[in-house]
Amino acid sequence: MKTVRQITVLGSTGSIGESTLDVIARHPDRFQAFALTANNNTEKMLAQCQRFQPRYAVMLDDHSAQQLAKFVRSAGLSTEVLSGIESLETVASLPEVDAVMAAIVGAAGILPTFAAARSGKLVLLANKETLVMAGRIFMDLVKQNNATLLPIDSEHNAIYQSLPHCFDGHLATVGVSRILLTASGGPFRCAPIDSLDAVTPEQACAHPNWDMGQKISVDSATMMNKGLEVIEAHWLFNASPENIQVVIHPQSVIHSMVAYVDGSVIAQLGNPDMRTPIAHAMGYPDRIDSGVSALDMFKVAHLDFEQPDFKRFPCLRLAYQALNSGGNMPAVLNAANEVAVESFLNRRMPFTAIPRMIEHVMETIHSEEIVTLEDVLRTDACARDQARQWLVNSH
Ligand code: NAD
Ligand code: MG
Repeated sequence: MKTVRQITVLGSTGSIGESTLDVIARHPDRFQAFALTANNNTEKMLAQCQRFQPRYAVMLDDHSAQQLAKFVRSAGLSTEVLSGIESLETVASLPEVDAVMAAIVGAAGILPTFAAARSGKLVLLANKETLVMAGRIFMDLVKQNNATLLPIDSEHNAIYQSLPHCFDGHLATVGVSRILLTASGGPFRCAPIDSLDAVTPEQACAHPNWDMGQKISVDSATMMNKGLEVIEAHWLFNASPENIQVVIHPQSVIHSMVAYVDGSVIAQLGNPDMRTPIAHAMGYPDRIDSGVSALDMFKVAHLDFEQPDFKRFPCLRLAYQALNSGGNMPAVLNAANEVAVESFLNRRMPFTAIPRMIEHVMETIHSEEIVTLEDVLRTDACARDQARQWLVNSH
């Protein structure tokens, strides 16, 4: 008999969160939403509580939680409303929970994602920032606590699908020579470089192929997203930076590829819809319906490939640099990038200042080893301070 998996969805009101709930709704015999969490969107959370009747709903923000609790009571629901970061960690680690979808955006996701791994859960990882900030510590935690980690990021999910089942963390042993990480190139792949200074947040968020949250949309426009994904691939698949090649593929149909020593290249293809990797990881090892339509090869017609240009996309260069430096540098890169993206979205600085701010912070902070989660959090705070300082000084 199939048992129903109890799922905690961290960041249920976001783009990945909503796609996850869509997959859950298609398979009531397999999945149940045990806990839903969000930052402060009470309206959307109430609608989700009405539809999915979770045991818990957590709002990070206290005031939003009080408001939601009132709504939930008057709607006659039995969902218990909690608030604060500790409650996010609790619903990621309660014994009733089988799997945790880690879909909070940014460094804010690290503590509940760590809590899920520490409790030995099946961790469905969308929050790539956790791996960028604390890759080694997180991978060790997964191993020590017998947690299972499945990648949701479409590229890493594609790589996972293209590796043999016997892959145990050693690419050379299974004959892999290279990982080919595909990238769409974002909305500014062909724009004149001197026009990038004037691009608006609306233009940067208008991704040609994927419908995503604001932060990752800007990351895609700068290609920092691909840089973060190189670091993510390094940790997930134990791949050295020189064995991870970024390939621009504007159609976003091939979600990534694995090249083998015999010359074979195995790819995973599909329509650009995150419900495919989500359903793959949630149903694993079974294949389940995701609601995504079949890929029409005749409509696709062409598959194009280009080399990434580091002059157009300096963020990609900075990410490789951070990965090669190791230690605290990826966490510095990530924190500076989050402040930079937020400052751009708030129209406090131009698009082209994003890599300038990050580079400045990486040059300012000394490189050092990172051993504990506290080291990571300290680095994150310090890099944010430096980034904000740079913004003040640059005006
Ligand atoms: P989003 O902005 O649409 O949603 C973010 C979610 O996190 C929301 O539910 C929000 O309430 C919650 N949240 C935001 N700040 C929070 C905080 N401080 N504390 C607690 N909760 C908070 O983001 P998204 O596009 O769904 O991306 C989520 C994660 O998945 C990111 O790490 C992103 O890189 C990754 N990812 C997204 C996609 C995609 O297609 N959207 C693809 C691959 C990977
Ligand atoms: Mg991706």
